[in-house]
Amino acid sequence: MIKDQTQLEQFQLAFDNLLQTSVYQVPQKNKQQALLPIFNLLHQHHQTHCLAYANIMQQANGTVNALADLPYLAVRLFKQLSLSSVPQQDVFKVLQSSGTTSQRPASIFLDKATSGRQSKVLVKVLQETLGKQRLPMLIIDSPAVLKDKSLFSARGAGIQGLSFFGRDHTYALDDNMQLNWSAIDAFHQKYQDQPVLIFGFTFMVWLYFIQGLKQQAKTVRFNHGVLLHSGGWKKLEGQRVDNHQFKHLLAQTTGVERCYNFYGMAEQVGSVFMECEQGYLHAPVFADVIIRDPFTLEVAPIGQSGLVQVLSVLPTSYPGHSILTEDLGTLIGTDDCQCGRQGHYFTIQGRLPKTEVRGCSDTHSA
Ligand SMILES: [Zn+2]
Repeated sequence: MIKDQTQLEQFQLAFDNLLQTSVYQVPQKNKQQALLPIFNLLHQHHQTHCLAYANIMQQANGTVNALADLPYLAVRLFKQLSLSSVPQQDVFKVLQSSGTTSQRPASIFLDKATSGRQSKVLVKVLQETLGKQRLPMLIIDSPAVLKDKSLFSARGAGIQGLSFFGRDHTYALDDNMQLNWSAIDAFHQKYQDQPVLIFGFTFMVWLYFIQGLKQQAKTVRFNHGVLLHSGGWKKLEGQRVDNHQFKHLLAQTTGVERCYNFYGMAEQVGSVFMECEQGYLHAPVFADVIIRDPFTLEVAPIGQSGLVQVLSVLPTSYPGHSILTEDLGTLIGTDDCQCGRQGHYFTIQGRLPKTEVRGCSDTHSA
């Protein structure tokens, strides 16, 4: 027990150091040096405190010398097992990621420490893109998403998490997912000449905002607006829209030129991978990404599409620090993106074919 206290204390010290570090300016080699001891500590911590994790990791004792050698859990295990590394009385919130009708949702067990780390890191990462000022915020969703308990899954939590970055929160859609013109007009009148934050899940923004405007042959100009969107492109596959078209039509209908997608798992809230001006997703200093060949699970070289493994230093209350997702992505490079950010940068292509559909915004059926 005493040994473990020291482990968590060591972890907390290392984490506090990371919080003082620049989010995107650490070259990959130094970043790996800083993160390795933290992930080794997390692996040991979860082995000690989560029996299911310890059983799965029986063959993976000891420490590793490279991030790519860290053991990982398949993301679907969070649906099949209750993975918690804290006593039940310390669980302060259980986050449910969306499930399909045939699948139970994943349960993510949060204690106060993990939840606090998630908020702190989300703030640090998003401030790099948005700045420190809280902007008037237009939310591309219906206010029902927060009221309806059955909807309050990842979508509600995502909106709540992002709300912190805005003020005068205004919902652009009504309960029937139609554009709420009285709300939009009032917001537009007040804020059209100043920076505003627009946030929504990718599929909601495309289907109900951009397409909604287009169908009504209307535009609403926010020339100083910035759009953040997340939640994946899966629902949009039938619509034949890619990031480029999305941005193009967004600019046409709203005048918003700054548009950033971000990638993150409900299993790793807080550690998000934000798109840069060049259109690539970047790993912040708190997280990393590894692409694996879907057949051999070996690390894939730069430029080769594969399964995305995500690492996050945040979770101590559940063993979600190293997860193999069912998403396909490609590592584009290391330390040399034109935007100047250091570390790994990548793109997401979608989900592995023939796996079950799941994603934050996918909880809303059109
Ligand atoms: Zn970049």
